[in-house]
Amino acid sequence: MSVDAAPAHRLFPLFADLRDRTVLVVGGGVVATRKVEALLGTGARIVVGAPVLDATLAGWAAQGRIEHRAGAFTPDWLDDAWLAIAATDDADVNRAVAEAGERRRVWVNVVDDMALARVHLPARIERGPVQVAISSGGGAPMLARLLRERIETSLDESVGALATFLTRHRHRIRARWPDAAARRRAFETLLSGPLPSLLRRRRHIEAERHFDAVLAPDSPHAAAGSVALVGAGPGDPGLLTLRALRVLNEADVVLHDRLVSDDVLQLARRDAERIEVGKQANGRSTAQDKINALLVEHARAGKRVVRLKGGDPFVFGRGGEELEVLRAAGIGYEVVPGITAATACAAYAGIPLTHRDHAQSLRLVTAHAKDSLDTLDWPALAQGRQTLAVYMGVAMLDTLRERLLAHGRAPTTPFALVENGTRATQRVVIGTLADLPDTARLHAVCSPALLILGEVAGLARSLHWFGARPLNCHNATLSQAA
Ligand code: SAH
Repeated sequence: MSVDAAPAHRLFPLFADLRDRTVLVVGGGVVATRKVEALLGTGARIVVGAPVLDATLAGWAAQGRIEHRAGAFTPDWLDDAWLAIAATDDADVNRAVAEAGERRRVWVNVVDDMALARVHLPARIERGPVQVAISSGGGAPMLARLLRERIETSLDESVGALATFLTRHRHRIRARWPDAAARRRAFETLLSGPLPSLLRRRRHIEAERHFDAVLAPDSPHAAAGSVALVGAGPGDPGLLTLRALRVLNEADVVLHDRLVSDDVLQLARRDAERIEVGKQANGRSTAQDKINALLVEHARAGKRVVRLKGGDPFVFGRGGEELEVLRAAGIGYEVVPGITAATACAAYAGIPLTHRDHAQSLRLVTAHAKDSLDTLDWPALAQGRQTLAVYMGVAMLDTLRERLLAHGRAPTTPFALVENGTRATQRVVIGTLADLPDTARLHAVCSPALLILGEVAGLARSLHWFGARPLNCHNATLSQAA
C-alpha cells in the first residue's frame, strides 16, 4: 500500500486516551513545539527525537515533562510508539517517519502533508473536559481554523465548569432518570435553567442546591428563570463583548432600550422574543415600573431574560435600580458590562480621554434636566487639565457653556460633540467652549450625542479615523454657502 495516496474516503474522528502510551514527535523546532504542547496534559509519554531541541522543548525536557531522543531519525525510534508526529522541516525525514510507521502499524501524522499523514490533528476548542475538534478533511486547514474561531467565540467558558459538574453527578443523574429519553428531557431543562448562569457566576454552592432541588421528585425549581443585565455598547455590533453575545444566543426574551442598535439586536437568538421598552422623556418613572414588572414576570415564567441597554448598564443606565427589584423578587441575575458612550465615542473620534500633557482625569457627567444641573459641582467641573464626558446634554448646551465659563473654564477649551458614535451615521462636530451651542445648532446636532470637553477634544482634528472628517463652524458656513 502506498503512503502517498490522498485520502479518498472520509476521515474517522476519534478521541484517543494516550495515558502511559508513548508518542514520538520527530523534530525540535517551533512546529514540533506546537504539537508537543497539544500533547502535554494527555498523560502520554512524550518522546521528542531531534539532534537538538529549541529552548522551550529543552525547558520541558529539563522539567521531565518530555524525553529527548538526540540524533537523527531511525525507524527503531518507533519501536514502542503508538502514535508519531513527523514535524521536521525536512520532507525526506518526514517521509521516512511515515513509511516506517506504515510498516510497524504506528499511526503517523505528518505536519502539513495531507498525502503522507494517516492521522490528522484537528483544530480544537477546549472548555475544561469538553473538546470540539474540527477537520476539513485535511485539504483546507485554514477553513477549519476559521470555523474554530467562530465556535470559540460562541462557546462560553462556563461550558467547562458545566461538564465537570455534570460528570461529578453522573451517577445521581442516571439513578434519578434511568430512562434515556427522560434523562435527555431533564438535561434540556437543566441546561435552559439557571445552572449555566450560576456556574458562570461562580456560585457553586447555589448550583449544587439548585441541582438537588431539580433532582427532588416533582420539583418546580427547574423552571426558575434568570436575568442578565447586558451592556450592548454604543451601536457598532463589533463592540459587543463575547459574554454579551453568548447570553444573547441563549436568551428567551430580550427587553431592550430604544438606544440599542438593530445590528446588535440581530445577534439575539432567532426565536427570542424581543420587547422594546424605550423610555419617554416624560412619565419616566411609570415606564421604569413597567420595565421592572416585565423583568420579574418573564423571569418568574422560567425564561432566560436579557435586559439589554445601550452602552454600559451601570453608567447612566439605571441598571442598579433594576437589580434591586430583581434582588427583592429573589430572581438570579448577572451583569455583563458594555462599552460606554464616553470611551466608544472618544475612540471613534480619535480623542484620547486622558493625555499626559492635557488631562489627568475624566469625569462622566449627565446633564439632562435643569434641576440635575443644579446639583453638579461646577467649580470642580470647570477646572482645567481634565476631560468632561457629558451624557444626555444636547438640550442643555447653553446652560453648560454659561456655567462652565462663569466658573472659570477657558472659552478656548476645545469640545467635540459625537453624534451617533460608532454608527454609520456618526458625525463629529468640533469647536471651542465659547461657541459650543451655536456650532451645535448650526449642524443641528441631535440625540444621541456625547459631548467631550477638554484640551484632548482638539486632537480629533488630527487623529480622527472613522467616518467623515470633523465638522466645525467654518465647514458649516462653507457648506451653507455652497
Ligand atoms: N448607558 C449608556 C448611557 C445611557 S444615557 C452608556 O453607557 O453609554 C444616553 C446618553 O448616552 C445619550 O443621550 C448620549 O449622550 C449617550 N450615548 C449613548 N450612545 C451614544 C452614541 N452611540 N453616540 C453618542 N452618544 C451616545
